[in-house]
Amino acid sequence: MNSSSEITLKENAIINNIRFLKKKLGPKVKISTVVKANAYGHGIEQIVPLFEKHGIDHFSVFDYGEAVRVYNSLVSPASIMIMGWICDDNMEETISKGLEFFVFNLDRLNVALKASKKLNIKAKIHLEAETGMNRSGLDVRELREAIALIVENEEFFEIAGFCTHLAGSESISNHSRIQKQLSKYQKMLAILTDNNIKPTYRHVANSAAAFTYPKSRMDLVRIGIMQYGFWSSAETFISYLSNKRSKINPLQRILGWQSQIMAVKAVKVGEFVGYGNSYLAQTETLTALIPIGYSGGYSRSLSNKGRVLIGGMRCSVIGVVNMNMIMADVTNVPNVEVGDEVVIIGKQGDLEIKVSAFSDISDQLNYEVLAHLSERINRRMI
Ligand SMILES: *Cc1c(COP(=O)(O)O)cnc(C)c1O
Repeated sequence: MNSSSEITLKENAIINNIRFLKKKLGPKVKISTVVKANAYGHGIEQIVPLFEKHGIDHFSVFDYGEAVRVYNSLVSPASIMIMGWICDDNMEETISKGLEFFVFNLDRLNVALKASKKLNIKAKIHLEAETGMNRSGLDVRELREAIALIVENEEFFEIAGFCTHLAGSESISNHSRIQKQLSKYQKMLAILTDNNIKPTYRHVANSAAAFTYPKSRMDLVRIGIMQYGFWSSAETFISYLSNKRSKINPLQRILGWQSQIMAVKAVKVGEFVGYGNSYLAQTETLTALIPIGYSGGYSRSLSNKGRVLIGGMRCSVIGVVNMNMIMADVTNVPNVEVGDEVVIIGKQGDLEIKVSAFSDISDQLNYEVLAHLSERINRRMI
């Protein structure tokens, strides 16, 4: 390995996850693969062609910049849906590239109309309904105003979708709030239908909703975390398993993160290791220096808590996580040497460090751990 660390992406896991999701969701439900946050840390440029190769032709991103990266990574044309931010200056390019986007307020609709009139190209819009999350979307009054504007300017809009986002479908504690959102969505959809507007895709579900609330699947599901091989929450996984005979996880992780030992050092009893005095060597300790740190996405909250795999053994991170380095206790690892492989996420021998282990010891969601993986780390397909 020439770089200080490397992220590997397993193509077989992608094939497995897509096959599982397609089988579960059935042929009538379109999958939009969510690749925001640099494809959940996996790397947009690496992940998009792989998902495309294995049958995905609909991608969702958060902003215009990510949409352009997806656009440039595709081999064949596919739908790209921007769920969040586009600055007004990018609206014309958004429309001329055929990118789809959420209309989450009236202002967005007016900016789109102006640009599409100028270009004489239809804007492909997804009307986002405010159904109870109180984050973004058109309320009933705004929806009626939007409809009036759309009807008046029919030739400038393609109604690609009518959507909303559910406020926490990965936890059963939100059950009644979600049910209310779903019924509000249906009521708002009826307003569209009454005005003869038929969106191409009705969509509300993310990974957790698609599994926990089957009626939320509708025409399209926006699947992020599950396609990368993670369940949205323990609850989502348990509820999936509860009526299955096999208790085997059908999803596979795509991503691994590896580094190597940069230096090995013996530390005497009573010495502190690293910055400050957070780690005191209570016995003769052998430390391994590893060239990853918080600048690469290894959170400081893993100081004195994280674990890595070296020589087929679990080793504790000792001292604080530095910007570019961590130290691990390798006292009990036989024949440890500079250059030995260090697994930060993934398998080594029979052992595995999962992203969920990070959340157990550092209060980070698996989403968060993945999203923090630096874009500078080299990504390689295996
Ligand atoms: C991130 C996101 C998703 C995907 O969520 P997962 O839990 O990763 O499946 C779906 N919809 C919207 C609006 C999102 O922002």
